[in-house]
Amino acid sequence: MSKGKVLLCLYRGGQHAHQVKGLLGCVENELGIRKYIESKGYELVSTDSKDPIGSSEVDKHLKDAEVVITTPFYPAYITKERMAKAPNLKICVTAGVGSDHVDLNAANEHGITVTEVTGSNVVSVSEHAVMTILDLVRNFVPAHEQAVSKGWDIAGAAMNSYDLEGKTVATVGAGRIGYRILERLIAFNPKKLYYYDYQGLSKELVDRLNKASEVLNGRGDIVERVENLEDMLGKSDVVTINAPLHEKTKGLFNKELISKMKDGAWLVNTARGAICVAEDVAEALESGKLRGYGGDVWNVQPAPDNHPWRTMRNQFGGGNAMTPHISGTSLDAQARYSAGVQNILESYFSGKHDYRPQDVIVSGGRYATKSYGERNDGK
Ligand code: NAP
Repeated sequence: MSKGKVLLCLYRGGQHAHQVKGLLGCVENELGIRKYIESKGYELVSTDSKDPIGSSEVDKHLKDAEVVITTPFYPAYITKERMAKAPNLKICVTAGVGSDHVDLNAANEHGITVTEVTGSNVVSVSEHAVMTILDLVRNFVPAHEQAVSKGWDIAGAAMNSYDLEGKTVATVGAGRIGYRILERLIAFNPKKLYYYDYQGLSKELVDRLNKASEVLNGRGDIVERVENLEDMLGKSDVVTINAPLHEKTKGLFNKELISKMKDGAWLVNTARGAICVAEDVAEALESGKLRGYGGDVWNVQPAPDNHPWRTMRNQFGGGNAMTPHISGTSLDAQARYSAGVQNILESYFSGKHDYRPQDVIVSGGRYATKSYGERNDGK
């Protein structure tokens, strides 16, 4: 007789699951934690069947699950309705960062704890964001498509290709990922790096960036905080979004806000798809307002075949640097978030609930983080 049921919902690895030992994040390899969970007297059920909501395997097992573990890359959406049908559910664990696939208000109502493995993939995502910025600014994707299709139209690729050097780059959100992106961009000698966040970076962190620029580019004073988002967008060639999805960021980049951006700017979003209005982005790209859009996050995942971001193009036939949601699930990241999930489970099973504070999103019916919770500081 098991003590309870742990439900794990992850993407299917298929043939790749056995090809690479470190592919821990797929349903076959179960984050490498089956033995651990069973050693604690719990039953582990793993599935990739999360849709349609109401009749998937997830729905079947949620009824008596005590713990649900899922990943942002292939999220089992834990909606209010699903929670109402899960009377034993005590804790949702995100194998990664970003728990917006859980209805957090409903989790508060039901007293369900929500945790994630904060920091586990921040390097992976910041590298992906920098890669996407370069892909767009250099016009990599259309040039690569030519290479593999035996083309050689230099003008066709070069007419929309620029240097990142000398461009102004801005981040919306300068937390763990946003800061790391700024750090990595210094090497490209940008004209200026701006950030917009509720809080300013500490003097120590700003000094680190400016000193690195002094050494690499012979210019300090490269980083600047901008208090008004629209002002920042109006003077930036590249904008990267690195804020969580919450009530104040949902649909933030709509037609109106995009109209405040510089004409022909590049927009990169590895945070959450729903921060941007999909149709407005596609329209801005097609009209030339945006020169490029890229990232790996979509407002429903997997994205439907007819999602506009799959096919949108700028007037040069490029400007689309989308991938499936992979930035935070490199093999290195998988090792970190798998270990982090086990640490969270250890705190839960021990009954101590002594989670790392930064991993707790909601607990005891309350938000533990400012981003997701009701902000009471007026910002
Ligand atoms: P973080 O360290 O918490 O940083 C986020 C920063 O954004 C915080 O400083 C936060 O301020 C700020 N912020 C919140 N709302 C904002 C707004 N409206 N405008 C400007 N700044 C705002 O989080 P992180 O680790 O950098 O991750 C950021 C997000 O990236 C996650 O929430 C997740 O959605 C996404 N992510 C994606 C992947 C992927 O695989 N693509 C992987 C990891 C994370 P406060 O703390 O004051 O709220």
